[in-house]
Amino acid sequence: MVKVDKKSVALTFDDGPNQTYSLEVLKLLEKYQAKATFFYIGNQIEANLDVVEQVVAKGHEIGNHTWSHPDLTKISPEEVKQEIESTSEIIKKAVGKVPVIFRPPYGEINDQVESMTELSPVLWEVDSEDWRTQDPDEIYQLVTDNVEDGSIVLLHEIHQGTVDALDRILKFLVEANYQFVTVSELNR
Ligand SMILES: [Zn+2]
Repeated sequence: MVKVDKKSVALTFDDGPNQTYSLEVLKLLEKYQAKATFFYIGNQIEANLDVVEQVVAKGHEIGNHTWSHPDLTKISPEEVKQEIESTSEIIKKAVGKVPVIFRPPYGEINDQVESMTELSPVLWEVDSEDWRTQDPDEIYQLVTDNVEDGSIVLLHEIHQGTVDALDRILKFLVEANYQFVTVSELNR
């Protein structure tokens, strides 16, 4: 039997958790036994602890996406620290451990922001552009045209279009011999 090495992809979902889309996203990931990484906004966590608990129970990774989603390059270093640390604290309170990665809102980062935290910044290689378009066909096309072995894919769990595209995206990736890993599991 020929052994086939799998390719890896890290799907990431930003701006949750919430009661509208998060559980649907989780259900679809489970259907394909796919692991993913969720970058959470700190001020959304307390009202959605049920979602957060499920995410952890299913083996997904949680990352820090700041407390209130500012452009970190436009606020003071002290505010950057506060945005990130308060979010790590509430994640620790919710799931018992602090995140090791963070994603700067809008992908905006500079040396000063980086120097304010121990967390590793995580950007992306593939932008689904689901923040711009709600068209599931377009979201599907952008992801499947651009994904490669080792890609981090940017998605959001706050739009219906993303949820509508997700089943097909997962199916495509399975058929293209990808395994789903968390960001921290990606070898880089
Ligand atoms: Zn965001």
